[in-house]
Parts: sequence; C-alpha cells; structure tokens
Amino acid sequence: MSTEHTMFSGIGVSAGVAIGPVVQVPPAASFDADEPATTDPAPVVDKVHEALEQVASGLEERLTRVTEKARPVLEATAMMARDPGLQGSIDARLSAGAGPTRAVHEAVEEYATMLSSLGGYMAERVTDLYDVRDRAICRLLGKPEPGIPELRTPSIVVAHDLAPAETATMDKTLVLGIVTAAGGPTSHTAILAAQLGIPAVVKARDVMRVPDGTTLAVDGGKGDVIVSPTQAEQADLTERAQLRAAALTDSQGAGVTQDGHSVALLANIGTLDDASSAAKEDVEGSGLFRTEFLFLGRQSAPTVEEQKEIYVEVLQLFGERRVVIRTLDAGADKPLSFANLGEEENPALGRRGLRLGLAIPELLEDQLAALGAAHRETGADLRVMAPMVATCEEAELFAEKARAAGLPSVGIMIEVPAAALRSEDLLSIVDFASIGTNDLSQYTMAADRMEGELANLLDPWQPAVLQLVQHSSRGGSATGKKVGVCGEAGGDPLLALVLVGLGISSLSMAPGKVTAVRAALRMHSLAACEQMAIAALKARGPEEARQAVLDLSDPNLEVLL
Ligand code: PEP
Ligand code: MG
Repeated sequence: MSTEHTMFSGIGVSAGVAIGPVVQVPPAASFDADEPATTDPAPVVDKVHEALEQVASGLEERLTRVTEKARPVLEATAMMARDPGLQGSIDARLSAGAGPTRAVHEAVEEYATMLSSLGGYMAERVTDLYDVRDRAICRLLGKPEPGIPELRTPSIVVAHDLAPAETATMDKTLVLGIVTAAGGPTSHTAILAAQLGIPAVVKARDVMRVPDGTTLAVDGGKGDVIVSPTQAEQADLTERAQLRAAALTDSQGAGVTQDGHSVALLANIGTLDDASSAAKEDVEGSGLFRTEFLFLGRQSAPTVEEQKEIYVEVLQLFGERRVVIRTLDAGADKPLSFANLGEEENPALGRRGLRLGLAIPELLEDQLAALGAAHRETGADLRVMAPMVATCEEAELFAEKARAAGLPSVGIMIEVPAAALRSEDLLSIVDFASIGTNDLSQYTMAADRMEGELANLLDPWQPAVLQLVQHSSRGGSATGKKVGVCGEAGGDPLLALVLVGLGISSLSMAPGKVTAVRAALRMHSLAACEQMAIAALKARGPEEARQAVLDLSDPNLEVLL
C-alpha cells in the first residue's frame, strides 16, 4: 500500500480518536534452515559476538528513555546477551560446523532448558533469553530487531499482533493508538489496549502495508483507519472526539438509570498498575481482577506470601469499594509455564480455568490461602470467583475450598453455556455470578475468540448469547443472588443497556469505558432498557439486534458509540 489517502475498516476495540505517524512492529524471524555450514569458525564467531553486543548495547542505550517498569527488563535482557556461558555454547556449535543463526537458536534452547531446571529467579530469565535469541537472529539476517521499536515521538503502533507482555509494558504517553492486522474483539491484546485507554482497532488486515512514518487516523470506537487523512477528515474526527468529550463531562458518580435503578459500574484489572490507575477512577470497585496476568511469563508459581502482598495492595488501593478477584484462569490463550498439564489438541476446550485449579490443587489452594490472608489483614470487601465453571460439582468444590480459606463471598463465572442453562442450581451453591461474555460467546457460537475471521460469530450481540444472559439472570432472580457481567460486552454503551434490561446488576469493564456506559445509562429508564432487551432478543442476528436497540435509544447516545 502506498501512502496515498485510503480508508479501511477493522474492529474498534477501544474507543477514542488518534492521529499520528505509523511505527511498524517488525515480526520475529526464526533461524535460517538453509544457511551454509560454518567451515571457518573464527570470523563467524566474531560476527555472532558482534551481533550479541549490538543487541546488548542497543537495549542499554534505551535505558534512560524508558519507563521505570521497562528498565529492569531491558537491563536483564542486555546482561543475558553478554552471558559468557551462552556465548561459549554458541562458539562450540559454530566450531562444530553449525551456521550462525542455527548456532544461536540451538544454544539458546539448551540454555533455556538448563535455566528452567534451576527454577526460581534463573528460570524466570528464560523469557529474556528468547528475546536475545530473536534479536540476535534478526541482526544476523540483516533484519530489524523484532518487537515494538523504541518510540521517540508519539506514534500509532501497527503490528500483525502484539504479545500481552508487549502491550502491557507500553508507554501510554508515546503510544497514541494501536492497529493490528490480526486479533479479535475479545483477544487479550484488545482487552489490554482498552485497559490502558489507548484507542485501538484490530483485524485491520491491510494495515501491515502502510509504510513507517505515514500519518494514520484511527477511530477506535468505529474501527475506521484512514491512511494519510485529509485536513477535512482530521477536523471531522477531532470534532467527533470533542463532541464525545463534551457528552462525557457530566458523567460522574454511581451507575444509575434515568429513573434511579442502580447498576454498579466496575473496573476490570489485570496488574497492580491497572489497579492503581483504576482505583483513581470514578468506579465503584473492581468487578474482575484477572490474576493470571500477574504471573504471565513466570517460570514458577508465586508463593502464598508473594501473592498475599499483591492482593493486600490491590484491596488497599480500592479502600471500601468491592474487589472481585478471579482465581487463576490459565490455559488456552493465557498459558502459564508453571500451570501446564502438557499439550492439548484443543486447549480452549481443555483443562483451563477452574479445571486446571482442580487438577493442580495446590495452585488453587495456595491462591485461596493468599486471598484469605489478604482479607483477614485488610477487612476489605473482597469477593472471589472461579473461571470456567460448568457443573454443580465444580461449583461445590470451589465454594468449599474458598469458604475453608475464610473467604466471605464466593461466586462463579458463567462462561460456559452449561452454566448459563443451569444457573439456578449453580447460584443456589454460591453467593453471586458474573457472566464472562467473551468466553460465553466463544462457547455458545463454537467460534475461537482468537480467530478474527469469526468476529461476526463472536459478537456478543448474537441473540443466542443474549438469551443465555437472560437465562442466567433469571437464575439470579429465582435464588435472590446477583448476576453481573464482566466480559467486554459490558463496556459497549448500547449493549450495556440491553444487559441492564435483561436484569444484570453490575457491569465490569476496562476503566476507560465506564464514563461512556454511565452516560448511556443516565439517558435511559429501566423500562426503556427492558424494551431494548426484548427487541434484541427478537432479532435474528447481531446486526438486526444492534439496529433495533439503536432505534429505541436516545439520539444523543450515538456520539458515545
Ligand atoms: C470473559 O470470558 O468474558 C472474561 C471476562 O474472562 P477472560 O476475558 O479473561 O477470559
Ligand atoms: Mg473468560
């Protein structure tokens, strides 16, 4: 694609407008399987050492300009590139005739296995080691180093896809917007972008062809991406952003419909940083703490004491407000190396979520013990819930362990159709339920949430998904227990109205989305939301549902979408 003015669409996953220059994220390269064998090792050894030194000094050079959080990561990676043990192992392979990229690849594999077997701190260095490998191999192949390049001016980051760790360490002041070619609306990259409040569009297929430096305008609400926008388009987008900002200025306080029906508006968090920024926002607490994000990239399970400290900190940040902590939801798209039961044909249908916690009981029990201790220490409004519950037996096992750990409020997530269908039975065992619409959509529609091509099936506006939400909510009414939503659906201002109309009592979302949802709620009565729910359920598909609800909504809502 040239830098000529063009426009294309993706899926908007984090609302807001961004205009700025493109910075492309180069992909990692694997070793060159066809490279010639090394016949004269001395010059090749020098070349590889030089590549490793360039990797190390390149990382060190960035140290003074990166965020505090990113600094230790860069330091550790640079140190690893200069590790004499690693260099010795590469040299030995070169002397034995391996080509340079293969020698790096194999030496790193061997070193990684060795570090993993040492456990603890050493094992945690494996991620850095792989980063060194990818950077060195790209250097040897004459390609740019992979990963987000150092940003010197505020830019729009463009990538095929981003690793959760990459997104999580982004500097918000320099990343104006994110556009990826892959991903779907509920992929974890999308979730993290929304979490950081950075406008983002995923599944914008053509974006990889936009050259570095080209001006890009991104509408993260609508999913529009404009290459080299005209002055008029830039002005239009800026005006839309201003109208949106104006509509949001009065959106403050508790979540409530026009006629006074309360709906708690809560923040989804995944890290301590998230907790600290979300707690400063006008939210009524956290409705989902995705604890697995604390442990991504770690090689060993955190100790009870380590975990307790983090939970105490999070609870203290939210003070009197509720914090719903979800126990580890590892597996499938969020693999943890210390919680791995081996290869599976279909990880999303495998031993993930609570299933993993029950298969490796100490994992779940340690976490519950840490949560119990954090609760005793703070006296905070801590509620705990389990991911991926499908049966009464699972809910009973979880509730028993959680209550034994001294936790006062125990819930389950409804993410599997079976749980939605049997919500009344499940809710008679636990104290509350929270619907994970991301997984509920995936499992209802049999569509992998990582597969951007299936975005239409994964749409939480699918009437089948809404019907399961309704069924879950009825289970809540029958048992007198509250049912909330903590999947991405709750952050869509229009869909939030439907959920409220279906009887949902709380909505938890990326904190950046709360203001728009609160403003939408205040424009509509509970009766209007109920009418919208009826219209959405009547529709034959997601588009029809959305349009029917839009037709019933206040005209001032449009600018929030
Ligand atoms: C969900 O599935 O909707 C959910 C909230 O959990 P996660 O996105 O972390 O799987
Ligand atoms: Mg889920």
